[in-house]
Amino acid sequence: PYDVLVVGGGPAGASAAIYAARKGIRTGIVAERFGGQVMDTVGIENFISVKHTEGPKLVASLEEHVKDYGIDVMNLQRAKHLEKKELIEIELENGAVLKSKTVILSTGARWRNVGVPGEKEFTGKGVAYCPHCDGPLFEGKRVAVIGGGNSGVEAAIDLAGIVKHVTLLEFNSELKADAVLQKRLHSLPNVTVLTNVQTKEITGTDKVNGISYMDRETEETHHVELEGVFVQIGLIPNTDWLGDALERTRFGEIVVDKHGATDIPGVFAAGDCTNSPYKQIIISMGSGATAALGAFDYLIRN
Ligand code: FAD
Repeated sequence: PYDVLVVGGGPAGASAAIYAARKGIRTGIVAERFGGQVMDTVGIENFISVKHTEGPKLVASLEEHVKDYGIDVMNLQRAKHLEKKELIEIELENGAVLKSKTVILSTGARWRNVGVPGEKEFTGKGVAYCPHCDGPLFEGKRVAVIGGGNSGVEAAIDLAGIVKHVTLLEFNSELKADAVLQKRLHSLPNVTVLTNVQTKEITGTDKVNGISYMDRETEETHHVELEGVFVQIGLIPNTDWLGDALERTRFGEIVVDKHGATDIPGVFAAGDCTNSPYKQIIISMGSGATAALGAFDYLIRN
């Protein structure tokens, strides 16, 4: 059996595996796709100490660093079941069962798409999902934010300080964000809030040049010219496969304590699949290190 088995090969998993392997204990990492969301990222400018890099380049460095240790890397394998017996057992989609004394779950998350024409086509060419990551790229430009929940309204407030103008589009007749955020939003001079509207299309040529939406009351379609669209309608953790094996929030995020421990002894979690409030590469890596040290601490006590 492994001492530490990491499930997920994004920045959280890679960091957890390296921290575990450096303790000289038997470490494995199983991932559906090594690199995770970073593989889909074009430019990265907030990975501290590296001014600019690209997703696949960062993933190549992660892989090189992981391979520098005696870590078993099982790529292109999907976990489908977790069970605590004498050891913790992880069953893979291919039927194999991996056993380990401790497990670190780092299966990440994915952004919910609006699913309108132009979204896929212009991702990275004006369509963005992370204001902390891509906000500065739109300095002085006009953007839309789709979604009037807390994350959409926070994004609009954040972006309003950087860009020329923000149009916020909410499908329902009211914003769902906390009142204090709504108040702040409405106080900003360069924000237009549209409620009861349905996004129809993100338009562009080689990059985004506008957004079309339908007023749900009049059923009229309008078009706004702008350079960027931030989609903020939710981040879905990749944790469905865990069912009710362990405690998750109502959003499906794995609940961890400050050592990265879940409510199953020996099972830890890190990164975007957890209830960590902010989802970023550097934060995932930090929490991966925390979970690995938490797991090591557990091993020396049990
Ligand atoms: P992920 O990166 O999501 O990795 C999850 C891993 O788990 C993957 O290997 C996946 O294949 C695997 N997995 C999932 N389910 C299973 C399963 N059942 N069995 C086995 N393996 C499984 N952050 C920044 O800091 N700066 C940026 O500039 C930035 N830009 C971004 C741009 C885009 C387009 C996106 C999508 C995200 C961006 N982010 C950025 C966010 C950042 O990528 C994430 O916060 C970070 O990747 C989270 O790391 P993670 O390891 O927790 O999860």
